[in-house]
Amino acid sequence: MIPNHSPWIKQLKRTRLVVPLDKNASAAVAIVGGGIAGVTTAFFTLRNTDKTVILIEANKIAHGATGHNAGQVTSYFERPLTDMVQEFGAELAIDGQRSVESAWMLLDEIVAEAKLQTPLYRFTGYSGLSTFDQVILHLKNNRYRTDHELPQESIVVAEKWDRLAEIPQEFTDLYTLAPQKDLLQLLETNNTDYIACLGYRKGCMNSALFSEELIGYLIATYKERFSFYEGSPVREVRLGDSKAYLEVLAHTVEAERVVLCTNGFENFSIINEGGVEIDTKFHHVVVGRIGYMSGYIEPLNNPPTAISYFPKTNQRSNDPTGESYFYLTRRPHEHEGKDSYNLVCTGGPEKVLPNGAGYSREDSYSEDARASIDEFLRSNYNKHPKETEYSFFWHGLMGYTPNGIRRIGPEPCNPRLLYNLGCNGVGILPSIFGGLRISRFLNNEQVEQSIFDPDNQQ
Ligand SMILES: Cc1cc2nc3c(=O)[nH]c(=O)nc-3n(C[C@H](O)[C@H](O)[C@H](O)COP(=O)(O)OP(=O)(O)OC[C@H]3O[C@@H](n4cnc5c(N)ncnc54)[C@H](O)[C@@H]3O)c2cc1C
Repeated sequence: MIPNHSPWIKQLKRTRLVVPLDKNASAAVAIVGGGIAGVTTAFFTLRNTDKTVILIEANKIAHGATGHNAGQVTSYFERPLTDMVQEFGAELAIDGQRSVESAWMLLDEIVAEAKLQTPLYRFTGYSGLSTFDQVILHLKNNRYRTDHELPQESIVVAEKWDRLAEIPQEFTDLYTLAPQKDLLQLLETNNTDYIACLGYRKGCMNSALFSEELIGYLIATYKERFSFYEGSPVREVRLGDSKAYLEVLAHTVEAERVVLCTNGFENFSIINEGGVEIDTKFHHVVVGRIGYMSGYIEPLNNPPTAISYFPKTNQRSNDPTGESYFYLTRRPHEHEGKDSYNLVCTGGPEKVLPNGAGYSREDSYSEDARASIDEFLRSNYNKHPKETEYSFFWHGLMGYTPNGIRRIGPEPCNPRLLYNLGCNGVGILPSIFGGLRISRFLNNEQVEQSIFDPDNQQ
């Protein structure tokens, strides 16, 4: 049995006691779920409105996906931009991409305002491509980017690649050529399957530590308007004519609006009194996928980075949400009381959770995932030591919406209920953007239409 042991949770060094809800309560806004989505939604709601907020977490702050991810700060969707343009049209798709990228600025605002100390490493991250189709897809994405004034991804193609001449002329301005050894160096690999390298703005952050620090700031800053309970699973949400009621332990929370920041898996029923049924629809749209990661400690010899590797064979080719790939991050890490180490984290293996099956954080890590990550590192990452002792193995649950886009906004059948959920593989920046967007709905602002609207997610 390999226990689920995440470096992000280990870094929390929690001292705060869990305080469950011990009485009936009321607030203008009830937020369910204390991952990065719930905490940043609380931040923007408290900062941008004068409403009272109660945040209710079933377990502990940031112990869900937020404490079991890769900690890579990145703005891509696990869906090609070209595909999103086909579904939503260029304007909405590009606007969605721009919105997620705007969360970099929001992240900076939060860090500055709350004076957070959680390290955030910024750099250019790289992705290695190994097939003609992958190269063409990214060139098409880049064309949409340049046509709509979004920053371009840098694309470097190996100058002696035998399919170079097949790249259509129309893309010539979107890539540069270089000796293959140069792009392999950026990808930190000796695997000559990789014939192109993408570069884009990325970062690394412990999103659990960030959320934990931010909750501390909210508790200290908004004493009059913010309350917060852990160990308090919501088991029913009832949407009445003028209020919503949440059943939590032996108590009831009354609120004007309820925001679900539960990632998509919540174990409660939703009763829409006097309206159409929401419960069944809601519970069956999100598909669960377990992501597996391993991490090892090494001396602090290399700078922080994030690299993704897209192999020639795509084991997940039937999957509408994207390709199978491995991803690696490296960042400074305190170990045994010293900060002269790096932590190298790798993920890729995933398992679809059968419909209706439960997921437990306590479940053992998968032996297959361990072997597959180890094998991947050995044959791809040229800085991988021969004898690796992994310090961490962890898994987390991701909720995938049918079209791979986060749901942010009011429920079309009853706007008393709002969502900021649907991890879809990459959720740190989308959650933060979602937090701001939800605060605008709560403030009764005229919010522009977007790909994140639940109406677009049937
Ligand atoms: C293996 C893995 C790797 C990932 N890598 C990345 C990455 O590199 N970059 C990136 O951007 N994203 C990544 N993600 C996704 C990212 O971690 C999430 O999208 C992000 O953390 C969003 O968190 P959340 O707040 O929506 O969900 P969560 O962190 O899961 O929080 C939801 C919370 O809701 C609570 N809850 C559920 N039901 C109830 C209830 N009934 N009552 C009260 N509370 C309830 C849960 O206990 C939980 O704490 C990864 C995810 C995984 C699993």
